[in-house]
Amino acid sequence: MNLQTFAATSQGSTLEPKSIEVDPNGTTDIVIKVTHCGICHSDLHMIDDDWGMSNYPMVPGHEVVGEVVELGSAINHLKKGQRVGVGWQRSACLQCDDCLNGNENLCDESESTIANGYGGFADHLIIDGRFAFALPDGVASKHAGPLMCGGITVYSALRHAGMSSGQRIGVIGIGGLGHMAVGFASKLGNEVVAFTTSGDKFNEAASYGASEAVNITEENAFEKLTRKPLDIIISTVPASIEIEPYLHLLGSDGTLTFVGVPDKPLEIPVFPLLMKRRRIMASPIGGRGIMRDMLRVCDRHGVQPVIEEFAMSDINQALQKVRHNKVRYRAVVRS
Ligand code: NAP
Ligand code: ZN
Repeated sequence: MNLQTFAATSQGSTLEPKSIEVDPNGTTDIVIKVTHCGICHSDLHMIDDDWGMSNYPMVPGHEVVGEVVELGSAINHLKKGQRVGVGWQRSACLQCDDCLNGNENLCDESESTIANGYGGFADHLIIDGRFAFALPDGVASKHAGPLMCGGITVYSALRHAGMSSGQRIGVIGIGGLGHMAVGFASKLGNEVVAFTTSGDKFNEAASYGASEAVNITEENAFEKLTRKPLDIIISTVPASIEIEPYLHLLGSDGTLTFVGVPDKPLEIPVFPLLMKRRRIMASPIGGRGIMRDMLRVCDRHGVQPVIEEFAMSDINQALQKVRHNKVRYRAVVRS
């Protein structure tokens, strides 16, 4: 079939309309008519080939929402006309220990929606139907996209770092992922501290669920925190950060988890870890089970992203706004 896409044709290029000929495999693939697609910072990393895995032409867009219009013969859990969401993961082997344990996101054969296929900045998406998720009625299409990558990434990382309720949780970087981390943690009954470099986000912390905020660009910023310690800190920053001040904010057995990808290796002082048995971890997206769990939580607890909508034809303006940290708080394009 013929996909009408917006594609990057070389490293760092703007997206151009491009028609691409590709067919579903007839068995496990489904075809989705795209209605909405969120913009994740990983789309920019991929356009820029920051991770050395981009193939051009590349169609970014991996927070995809739409309606099923065609089903392969092996896909019986979805039906035509159904509203579904798709995230970063396109497929996995479904037979290794990780897949069988419900950790498809850790599978060595895992494929990405945009590195191994054509993504959601297009009229249609072809994807393995086993990685398309039925959306609950309480989750609007315009809000569902950002949950499919940004939302699941922070939800899974926080859960695997031990998030329950009644804890104190810190979030570094209040962009697309960060504001959703604040949303999940606060709606599930935790007290949340936002660490931001943006004055307006510092001022409006309460509006996205944070009970306290720290403007880390200010002198002695960390000393202004009223209460310590934190049980978990999650970093969503797509750049290098100095981690030592954050380690000191964690309580005993506290965890610093990374989902944002720094541009160079971290410097890790061991003493602040050792003295309080603190941990550092990192986490990629989420498996299929926890994706369904997250969608239920969003449905029942009303967790939803704060979005700025753009027409698909304005995709380059929207990408620029993300690049310059001007979006509040997640950009979503609609077709
Ligand atoms: P985003 O919307 O651009 O937000 C990133 C936020 O980080 C910004 O809003 C800003 O927050 C802060 N920030 C940016 N540059 C900074 C700098 N130089 N120093 C300090 N703070 C800075 O990005 P996103 O879509 O949330 O993605 C964040 C990161 O997560 C990206 O690296 C992305 O690739 C990664 N990611 C990882 C996974 C995974 O599976 N682990 C999944 C999706 C995305 P303030 O204005 O509050 O300072
Ligand atoms: Zn993403």
